[in-house]
Amino acid sequence: MKKLIPIHIETLLPYQSAKRIGLFGQFLLNANESPYNYNIQMNLDNLNRYPDFQPKKLLKKYSNYLQIQKKNILITRGSDEAIDLLIRTFCVSKIDQIMFCPPTYDMYEVCAKIYNIEIIKIPTLKSFQLNTIQIVQHIKYVKLLYICNPNNPTGNLIDISDLLYLLKKVPSNCLVIIDEAYIEFSSKNSSIFLLKKYSNLIILRTLSKAFGLAGIRCGFLIASSIIVNILKKVLAPYPVPLPVSQIAENALSKKKFSLIFNNIKKILENRDFFISKISNFPYVKKVYPSNTNFILIKFKNSISVFQYLLKCGFVVRDQSHKKILKNCLRITIGTKKECLLLIKSLFDGYTNGII
Ligand SMILES: *Cc1c(COP(=O)(O)O)cnc(C)c1O
Repeated sequence: MKKLIPIHIETLLPYQSAKRIGLFGQFLLNANESPYNYNIQMNLDNLNRYPDFQPKKLLKKYSNYLQIQKKNILITRGSDEAIDLLIRTFCVSKIDQIMFCPPTYDMYEVCAKIYNIEIIKIPTLKSFQLNTIQIVQHIKYVKLLYICNPNNPTGNLIDISDLLYLLKKVPSNCLVIIDEAYIEFSSKNSSIFLLKKYSNLIILRTLSKAFGLAGIRCGFLIASSIIVNILKKVLAPYPVPLPVSQIAENALSKKKFSLIFNNIKKILENRDFFISKISNFPYVKKVYPSNTNFILIKFKNSISVFQYLLKCGFVVRDQSHKKILKNCLRITIGTKKECLLLIKSLFDGYTNGII
């Protein structure tokens, strides 16, 4: 069997998704999902037929939502598929490199490793902003530069001046990919408006976070039509299952929109409430500012907090193994009730000397 497996797959550590880590609890605050669900009606009369390669109605709805032409949009199985598709399409092993700036989303690294593509990591500054000088210095053989904005797991926005600087400085054959998985929590900071000017810019979006539809696996890539057409050559023939496009179309209807944007508003209120309560908590060293539906918190001893919360039924995400995130946990913002219970548990744990 050993001979069967290429060395880069044998040594591969798969993406450690919240589901894969396999922790259980009553309150799942570990995957940045929305706490709100809603009913959606479906018509399943056509399941004997293959779906459209790019479902037309869905494309139209998303095009209206973004005010971007349909030819500039590609629908994918979550933005994770777009991250993978870009590497498969544009990178050649031993020739091209991909670059990203840790601490950031782990899938960029996992995908590059799957295709045996060399990785250049340029760590962020202590402020979690990009080290633009280092990025430009090492960009020569980089085909894909992944930037997560707002960044996961840190929650901050990337300075727009840095994005502009990079778009000006990187060679035109380097694609700059801005992963906007959380942008609906900070809509005015989207880089969509830069697409007209920079043909090597690609934006990734998803319905998994703010739209509360992680379960359907639906994402979107927005880029020049030239790039979209190249990617269409590589994308699977029927990437969007019929029920997925129906649910997504439904979520993007005018009726559902007010509900979804109201949920986003509620999550932001819950977040600010949670931050106001937790900031003065004696066991907290730092609450990092957030432009997302999660917050990164540095504790005195994150392991004890993690274990204690697990016992209380709260599953959060440990980030303490990452460079410059020592003693940090990432907590997804849930319902107001979940926030209140979490605060109570933390205070109880502290006053009783458990953490
Ligand atoms: C959650 C997440 C994704 C994955 O989104 P899917 O559309 O569910 O695949 C992509 N990028 C970042 C930064 C994320 O946090």
